[in-house]
Amino acid sequence: MPKEPGVSRRSVLKQGMAVAAGGSAGALLGRPVEASEIPGPRAQGTSTAGQAFRALVRYRDGVSVEELRLLPIRPREVVVRSEASMACYSITPFALRTNNYARPTIMNHSGMGVVEEVGPMVKRVQPGDRVIVAGTPQCGQCYQCLQGRADHCQWLSGVDVHPIAEMADGTGVVEMSGIGGISELMVVAEEYCCPVFTDLPAAELAMLADTSGTGLAACMNLVQVDPGSDVVVLGAGPLGLAAIQSARIMGAAQVIAVEPVAYRREKALEVGANAALDPNAEGDGLVSTIQAMCAPPTDRLFAGGSGARGRGADYVIEAVGGDQFPPEVEVGPDPTGILPIRQAWTMARPGGHIVTHGIGQRGEVSFPASAFSISGKTFHAGQQGGLNMMRDLPRFVRLAEAGLFDAAALVGQTYTLDQAREAFEAVAARTVLSAVVVFD
Ligand SMILES: [Zn+2]
Ligand SMILES: [Zn+2]
Repeated sequence: MPKEPGVSRRSVLKQGMAVAAGGSAGALLGRPVEASEIPGPRAQGTSTAGQAFRALVRYRDGVSVEELRLLPIRPREVVVRSEASMACYSITPFALRTNNYARPTIMNHSGMGVVEEVGPMVKRVQPGDRVIVAGTPQCGQCYQCLQGRADHCQWLSGVDVHPIAEMADGTGVVEMSGIGGISELMVVAEEYCCPVFTDLPAAELAMLADTSGTGLAACMNLVQVDPGSDVVVLGAGPLGLAAIQSARIMGAAQVIAVEPVAYRREKALEVGANAALDPNAEGDGLVSTIQAMCAPPTDRLFAGGSGARGRGADYVIEAVGGDQFPPEVEVGPDPTGILPIRQAWTMARPGGHIVTHGIGQRGEVSFPASAFSISGKTFHAGQQGGLNMMRDLPRFVRLAEAGLFDAAALVGQTYTLDQAREAFEAVAARTVLSAVVVFD
């Protein structure tokens, strides 16, 4: 029998996948396909399509809590009923400034809750699971995941951010970064979900999805802090405070926090820093103060001393970033966030490690070229702390359950959904350590 032109086994299989993925099989069957005709497993859990829910939506020049209606999910998507979501500082410009969203967008980029429905191709989570929805996906199959850099997972670049709900007038609503979070329901790809089998409070888990998880990863992932070492943490916001605890957990002998805001310096001492310095008070002497604090107990060069050249910290964790809004608390020495990066590099000892996490800096950073070239310092740019979320989030949960990580200490203030804008305003002003929206 002559082979039908243009129809190969591969094209049939590909068409089959398109059907399973909810696409049209018209090319094969010559007519539209009903959902009931699609072979393979069905979505599991309560059907959520058409459900009404509320979310904080940015649209044109305003941000407000809107009533929305959920659209049907895609085969690899998960519907999560939110328990909590941490209002992230990096979102504040989008949540609070004007004229930056042409299409309605649900704010934030992380959350946690309980899985309500999964598409037929989802394997990682099941209805009823408690899940952390992290700010960075982990597909396990892209080049970066395979190189062990899940913090740079490329999954998102292969997927379109598409409407997951509608406004009352039928306008499609998308989620920021394909995640959202300040919303009673989230629709996310399974690649963002990490199931956690724990009864820890929702607000604590919501922070692990973003800043707490990043700070904990800081001393355990891209660098593994050696026991007995000196660690400096620049910035004692929720990320820096988690990094301080991370250094402690890894066995650092000395952890020095540097933070302009007085109440955050106090918190740094509470969660385990040995000292908390004010960069405004230290001024240009900050680096030499740190070097003196990290000096070995002897000047004798051949007895492990550092001689006259000083030494510096074994590890410096930068968790400052640029100011998005003028703080209503003490202002740091450089709102652009450039100075802390330069200081981080300078105060690390030759052969030491610098891990940066801050974002929103403005400008460029420079270093003395010769010293940069040969000083043996290693610079790690830590996107979400180098988080490998499927590996790390469950162990961070265990650290919290074991009492080794004080997750509660990092939850500054909780808010209802109706207070979500206030949450972002407080975070922008830095008047709260952190702000978590907790859902009913
Ligand atoms: Zn964030
Ligand atoms: Zn990946």
